[in-house]
Amino acid sequence: AKGYALFLIAGISGYIQFILRQVFLFAVLMSSTARCLSYTKLEEESPLRLIDSERKLNPEWPMSGKIEFSKVSMRYREDLDFVIKKISFAIESGEKVACVGRTGSGKSSLIQIIFRMVEIGEGNVYLDGVDTKSIGLHTLRRNIGIIPQTPFIFSGSVRKNIDPFDNFSDEEVWSALKEVELDESVKEFPQGLNSEIGVSNVSFSSGQKQLLCLCRAILNKYKVLILDEATSNVDFETDRMIQKVIRNKFVKSTVFCIAHRITTIADYEKVLVVADGTVGEIGAPYELLVKNIGDKKITNEEGHFANLVKNTGVKTAAHIFSIAKEYYMKRNI
Ligand code: ATP
Ligand code: MG
Repeated sequence: AKGYALFLIAGISGYIQFILRQVFLFAVLMSSTARCLSYTKLEEESPLRLIDSERKLNPEWPMSGKIEFSKVSMRYREDLDFVIKKISFAIESGEKVACVGRTGSGKSSLIQIIFRMVEIGEGNVYLDGVDTKSIGLHTLRRNIGIIPQTPFIFSGSVRKNIDPFDNFSDEEVWSALKEVELDESVKEFPQGLNSEIGVSNVSFSSGQKQLLCLCRAILNKYKVLILDEATSNVDFETDRMIQKVIRNKFVKSTVFCIAHRITTIADYEKVLVVADGTVGEIGAPYELLVKNIGDKKITNEEGHFANLVKNTGVKTAAHIFSIAKEYYMKRNI
């Protein structure tokens, strides 16, 4: 009888393996079911189109490109603290505003708010006097140009990345490429504009990716352009080129630029210093650096912006000051 029992056990061990396998396989398959179920419980995004309120909208909207924040508060989740706290400021039509502030102060969050990637808790954001809450997400996002902090490239040809909806001619695409001085590199690709990105030597550095985004913005002639400058992965040349194109090609557009290198924005019309989710300071760079107009060095010792400039070192600070002063005098006298 003992021999028979041993014989049976030996037979079962095969089954145990089989059963365990089935149990684990079932668990793996069910986890994808569970994920699908959890997706159905996600909060739905707002409508992409709002036919009723958009019928009243001018098809050319936004015409002037004025942006206004009115007592806006935002937090990323219900259980977190507010990262933007009752912020109010206005950017006039055609103004070039640089946004600066310590890391984590909430600069990128302002962009999330403009594009409604995160819905605001309180307050209103107006674009050309129209509350952005009252229009569909597609209509809103299609009309604002963005160059993100970390740009991404779609798989597909160079041309598809610059002009995804085939709205422009090859000549127009080439002239936009020339504008950002990428035309030479694209000409060297095996099939020019139609080269597939990622295949045989067709690739872009992250600085060049930002320039491709800029190309897209040039073609679409956005009235509002938003730029989140890359913190470290863009070299000085790319930086300079982006700023040059902004000055030449977006003369009438409103530009909101999150800047990490103050040297590049010293000639901007206005600086917005974000401090811990609020407006630290806003004004012309020169005005923020001095106590009295006419001063020949940084005299506003307590100023947020003055301290940011001073932190760049004596030499750079003096350079920034002279640019800021020169452009202030040009504009106001
Ligand atoms: P940087 O100069 O480093 O780009 P920033 O000024 O752009 O900084 P934000 O990215 O706006 O800063 O972040 C502001 C605050 O919001 C930070 O305290 C950050 O931890 C928090 N935060 C940012 N993104 C999220 C998120 N997706 N979920 C939760 N909190 C976030
Ligand atoms: Mg950021």
